[in-house]
Amino acid sequence: MTIPMTSASALPPIPAREDDRLAALQRYELLDTPAEPAFDQITRLAAKLLKVPVALISLVDRDRQWFKSRIGLPMPETSRDHAFCAHALESDALLVVADARQDERFANNPLVTGDTNFRFYAGAPLRTADGLALGTICVIDDQPRAALTPEEEEALRDLSAMTMAHIEARRAVGYLHPVTSLSNRFRFLADVDGMTAEPADSTETAVVIDTAASQQYAELTRVLGQTCADAFEVDCARRILACLPERTRLYHVSPARFAFILEGHDAPDGELVSTLGRIGSAIRSPFQYQGVPIATSTGIGFVHRSDSRPGGVELLRAATSAAHQSLEEQKPWCAYDEEQDRAAHRAFLLLRSLTEAMGAQDQLHIAYQPKVDLRTDRCIGAEALLRWTHPELGPISPAEFVPLAERTALVRPLTEWVIAAVLGQVAHWRRRGIALPVSINISMLDLGTGDFADRVAAMLDRHGVRADWIDFEVTESALMTDRAEVDRQLRRLRHLGIAVEIDDFGTGQSALSYLKDIPATAVKIDQRFIRSIAVERSDQIMVRSTIELAHDLGYLVIAEGVETDEAYDWLRLHGCDFGQGYLISRPLAPTAFEDWLAAGAFRPAAISA
Ligand code: C2E
Ligand code: MG
Ligand code: MG
Repeated sequence: MTIPMTSASALPPIPAREDDRLAALQRYELLDTPAEPAFDQITRLAAKLLKVPVALISLVDRDRQWFKSRIGLPMPETSRDHAFCAHALESDALLVVADARQDERFANNPLVTGDTNFRFYAGAPLRTADGLALGTICVIDDQPRAALTPEEEEALRDLSAMTMAHIEARRAVGYLHPVTSLSNRFRFLADVDGMTAEPADSTETAVVIDTAASQQYAELTRVLGQTCADAFEVDCARRILACLPERTRLYHVSPARFAFILEGHDAPDGELVSTLGRIGSAIRSPFQYQGVPIATSTGIGFVHRSDSRPGGVELLRAATSAAHQSLEEQKPWCAYDEEQDRAAHRAFLLLRSLTEAMGAQDQLHIAYQPKVDLRTDRCIGAEALLRWTHPELGPISPAEFVPLAERTALVRPLTEWVIAAVLGQVAHWRRRGIALPVSINISMLDLGTGDFADRVAAMLDRHGVRADWIDFEVTESALMTDRAEVDRQLRRLRHLGIAVEIDDFGTGQSALSYLKDIPATAVKIDQRFIRSIAVERSDQIMVRSTIELAHDLGYLVIAEGVETDEAYDWLRLHGCDFGQGYLISRPLAPTAFEDWLAAGAFRPAAISA
């Protein structure tokens, strides 16, 4: 058979509103998505009803057709140039090709001449409500066939309508929050990204409302159940909606969090502020559930689009960060603050790289700071202090990253990293005859985890380190965990033979009453009282009475932050047992610590003179 045509003449026509069509195709978010049973059921039904081996739901992209569902065809896509379906886009009716070899548009098509051996084709366009064809549903046979019967045509058209209905439903569900039926976060992002104005001269303001702190929401779900949490969100949505200007869309962006966009309201005393005020009062009155009033903490934050980096994701993040600040600081609302945001960003960056640091060889180190006996001036031990050299940010203080880790699950692996490193060092020193106990800082949060003492015991075993070769310094954390569990773990540690010191004694958290309850061996007076001890009368009173009280209760006393000879002498004179500070030595790398020890016992200048 001769084929009287060139392949160039077989290229499919480009539809009139092609750019709109491609944009619509993107918006439906179907391309390159995994198979979905609902679409596969439709193609199976098509193959069965029309008695063909191949049935496809084809989406015609810029340069390809991609199959959302396919029966009887191995490839996931073909070039658009070869797509029969691309010929079906413009017609209202079905495209039917009785025998492709006899049709000059397709006779040379590799799908016809190649292994796939397409002969018969019938396709119905998948058209959106505004008339744009995304692709087709089509059936294909490797035998030529007569035209479709009217029943078959009707079946194919019905299947096309079913497919399109499913595509629309899928999108609607994808953009609605199932609990409140408000638009969801995806809709928010799509809407912001669809705003045409340049960010520089845009006047929109994004507002985020947190109707409960995330912990409170989790608690609500846990204690009263998801039904209650859902009812809470529905009630919040109703209250907020009542405060919004007409035609303002409210989005339900995540659990207990809502957002909306005000247009042209960037004057600080304008409609924005009055709207926020109304919302604030509306959401702050307690929610009633089965007669029980439930009060939550709320936060409202906003950002002008011109103050945010471009894009919906950034805008939502900035407004959420402001809402978070409002919730934390208990302010009625907060504007986005770039400085604060940068700090939060750095915190996030540090937390993200901390895991990597624990796995790297050269980022985390331990420095050892000597502790001396104030009566004999001899070194009686060392405190292990964690050091982190970040590959880009340089040295990061533990005072910055330890509290960050304490707010996440990272504190546990971090503490284990430190303990393992110190145990390795202690075992090494003991083998070399350096017999000094080393103190390890731990967080109260470590002690709340239930098996801390057991894990320490196992680590001691593994490293061949005796319990009395180390001790723990504990600081009471603002983030208190289960107090009874903390006590249990501390007692277990003491039972193993590990001494426990109370660190930072005298600061906000660790009060005298706390001393009575904690099974500790020593008290470490915080450096802020020691720094000017030789001259500051109030510090002297505080430290003198602490030493007395601690001794009466049977604790040893250590002073940290000893920086001057005067402080050293004052502390010794007043019966403080041990001292630690820059006067004696800065924290040192292990070999430097060995050199410091080898150089002989510490003597303050005043005494050695
Ligand atoms: P800390 O346990 O109270 O440690 C004492 C801090 O004071 C250390 O700061 C030490 O370098 C510093 N210091 C020592 N002598 C002097 C002095 O004479 N003058 C002054 N101004 N400072 C002195 P660093 O190493 O920056 O650690 C800060 C805090 O970070 C520690 O306070 C501790 O709470 C925490 N930390 C350090 N390493 C670890 C660790 O491995 N695990 C945990 N959980 N926390 C750690
Ligand atoms: Mg300490
Ligand atoms: Mg301290």
